[in-house]
Order: sequence, then C-alpha cells, then structure tokens
Amino acid sequence: MKHFPIFLAVEGRRIVIAGGGDAAIAKLRLLLKTEARLTVFAQNPAAEIEGWAGEGRLTLLRRDFGPGDATCAALFYAASDDDAEDARTARLARADGALVNMVDNLEGSQFITPAIVDRDPVTVAIGTEGTAPVLARRIKAHLEEHLSPTLGTLARIAKGFRTRTRALPMGRSRRDFWAEYYDTAGPRTLTEQDETALPATLDTLLETHLNRETTPGRVDFVGAGPGDPELLTLKARKALDTADVVIHDRLISPEILELVRREAQIFDAGKEGFGPSMKQVDINALIVEHAKSGAHVVRLKSGDSTVFGRLDEEIDAVTGAGIAFTIVPGITAASAAVAGIGQSLTKRHRNASVRFLTGHDMKGFAEHDWAALARPGEVAAIYMGKKSARFIQGRLMMHGADPATPVTVIENASRPDERVLETTLTHLEPDLSAAHMTGPALTLYGLAPRAALAVTPTLPQQELAL
Ligand code: SAH
Repeated sequence: MKHFPIFLAVEGRRIVIAGGGDAAIAKLRLLLKTEARLTVFAQNPAAEIEGWAGEGRLTLLRRDFGPGDATCAALFYAASDDDAEDARTARLARADGALVNMVDNLEGSQFITPAIVDRDPVTVAIGTEGTAPVLARRIKAHLEEHLSPTLGTLARIAKGFRTRTRALPMGRSRRDFWAEYYDTAGPRTLTEQDETALPATLDTLLETHLNRETTPGRVDFVGAGPGDPELLTLKARKALDTADVVIHDRLISPEILELVRREAQIFDAGKEGFGPSMKQVDINALIVEHAKSGAHVVRLKSGDSTVFGRLDEEIDAVTGAGIAFTIVPGITAASAAVAGIGQSLTKRHRNASVRFLTGHDMKGFAEHDWAALARPGEVAAIYMGKKSARFIQGRLMMHGADPATPVTVIENASRPDERVLETTLTHLEPDLSAAHMTGPALTLYGLAPRAALAVTPTLPQQELAL
C-alpha cells in the first residue's frame, strides 16, 4: 500500500485550489460536499465557479496564486489545466506547509483523491493508487447500487441515539436493534413519512426491544459429516440456516461453510493464526461467551461430534455456564470410508464388533488392547492413524496378528478427491509413506475393498503396484 486511506477532519479548515477551469470544477464538486472553507485562485474563473462564489459557497480571488496564499491550508489542489503552472503553484503551496495534490500527476502529489460513494455521514473511499480509474468507477457504481440513498439519513439521525441503546445488553440485542432499524423500521418510516419521524421510530423500536424477552443462547453440537455437503443431515442444514455464530474445526469443507447463514459470524477454531490450533480452553470460552450473549451457537465438528471430537469437555463448559445444548449426530469418517470401499463395518461370521481407535492421543501414540485386535477377523476403524502407522503395525505383529491381514486407508472419504490405498499389515507403513497422503485419512484394519471395487480409478498405478 503506497497510499494510506484516512478521513481528514476538514470542518472549518482551509482548502485552497489554484485554477478556474475544468480540473478545478471537477475537484470543487467533491470539495463542496465538505464543511471546509474553500478558496479559489483564478484569473478567469469558469461561470460555475463564479456562481458558487456568488452563493457564498467559496471565496474567489481573481488573480494568480502566489507565495503565502496557502498558509494554514490543510490541502492544496494545483488544478490549472497547465502542467507548468501546476508545478509552480505546487512548489509554493508546499513551502506554505499544505498537503499538495497535482491534478493528473501522481508523482507530484502528496495525496490522491479517491472515488467517493457519498451517503454522508457514511462515506466509502475507493482508491487504486492511480492504476485503474475504470475499476474504481465500477466499484463505485456497484456500491452505489447496493447502498440505499436513504442510508445517510438513517445513519445521521441514529448518531444521537447511540447512547440510548446502552440500555440494551451488549452483543446480539444491540445488533438486532440496529439491524431492524437499518433494514426495516427506518426505511419504512422514510417511505411512509419523512425523516422528522425517525426519532419517534427509534424510540418505539427501543421500547419494543427492551420489552422483548431476551431469548437465552443455546449451543448445537453439530456433526458435519466427512466432507460431502450432501451427507449433512437435515437437522444439520437447519442449524446452519439459523445459526448466529458458527465455530468450526479445520476439517470442515468450504462447500459446507458456504451453507452457513450469511449473517452468521464464523470462527475457524482450527486456524493456524491462533497457534498450531486454537487451544481447547479458548474454544470452550468462545462457545460460552457467544451463547451467553443470547446467540444460537453451532459448534460444527467434522464427522460425528461424538467421535474423537473432545465433545465432553465442551459440553462440560456449556452446562457449567448454565447453557442448554443439543447434539446433532453426523456421519462419521468410518462410515464414509467403509461405504467408499463397498464394505460393511460388521459382518456375520466375520466380526460381530468393530472398534473405533485413535492413532494418537494427547500423550502420543495411543495404546490399545493389541492382543484382542490381533485375533483373526477383527475389524477396526483407526482415526488419526497416518503418523502412527508404523507403531500400530509393530504392536499388532508383536501380538501375533497375521502379516497378510488386509488394511485399507481411505483419504478424503466422500470428497471428490477420495483415494483408496489397499494394502496388508506388513506393507502398511511403506505403502502409506509412498502414497503421500496429505488429506484426512481413515485406516480400516481387517478390511479390503470389495473385489469389484479393488482397483479404484483415483489411485495412481504406482501406489497400487506397491
Ligand atoms: N469426529 C470425526 C473425527 C475427528 S478426528 C468423525 O466422526 O469422523 C479427525 C480424524 O478423522 C482424521 O485424522 C481422520 O482420521 C478422520 N477423518 C475425518 N474426515 C475424514 C475424511 N473425509 N476421510 C477420511 N478420514 C477422515
């Protein structure tokens, strides 16, 4: 950013313009919107400028700009439509201590004037550092379309009312009040009556909001499934439609976040910006803080939130703060992974039980009942098992598991980039390293892809050959 945008206080301050032609008129049209005191120096001013002077909107001096004429000026515009003259006046004005702008001369200017969307007191300034004036105009037109012309009036009348809204609790209640004023109540008053009726509208609206039962906040722990948005439950969709606040973990796919209500605040609790990932205590605090302010918080977790999601710690925090919660179950990665290879998690005469294991816990690689798992026909869905593959392989073999036991690793289950790695216990670690899986992966111990699906088109041949 070579130019830093600021809003300069110009009320009652001097702004000096040297020039009386087209360039000066263009700048004056903007400057006349301000409450600055404008002085124009021009031997032969255009009729418009004379008109403005006649109306007392600016001071017109019918002579060339000279030394000392920009004394005490906040801003100076060299706008004579003549490069040599502009260079002369700019030099003098700089000596007087004014900030100088030379029309159509970026290098010679100490500041540039942005394209402006004026909904005074709401002002949008658009700058492209002189590179793309066309783009600036298009952005301006786009904003003009989206910001109702009455916005400025609504904002101006609301300004004096801000302190009164302190009677409402901070956070959601105040946001709701202002949203209703700007979105519906205010515009309606301006259509049906006029701006003199706005203070009464604000009074009535505040009264309504003060008497409104403050709905207590609540928390939904929602399972977002393995990634495919079509694997969201209807209840999950509904929760995303109505949420005020969504706090999600790293594995939530962008397609699913697209479905969140537009007005909702979204927090990424797995974001690198908070350290390696946000600390659990901080996530708990974030959930509680928003629910306490009356928000409907959706804690969005990948798969099913009851599976390896530290759900209980969050529930403890929520109930500890006296906040109500519900759990919306989701499709866990194991279900998506096993569906991807056309298998069942349990099967008559093969395995009457299935274990969900985690490859590592807070202390490192997780220990399990390896002897029981090593028996023939056992099936386990191993979450977070990529890094611990060698460890798991070693433990199972040590406890007598058949080295030829089928193992299948499914990366990005249910997503367009799903990959399946078919291997056996002895080959698990080398095959997995060779596959360079970077997405979330689930290891299915004791299961191979159903014969008809054994070769998946998404798996590169060299990985199959291993
Ligand atoms: N609550 C989640 C699990 C969270 S633990 C659930 O029920 O699925 C995170 C682990 O889940 C990942 O390390 C990975 O092993 C697994 N996982 C999540 N999404 C996955 C996906 N789309 N494909 C494969 N594994 C996935």
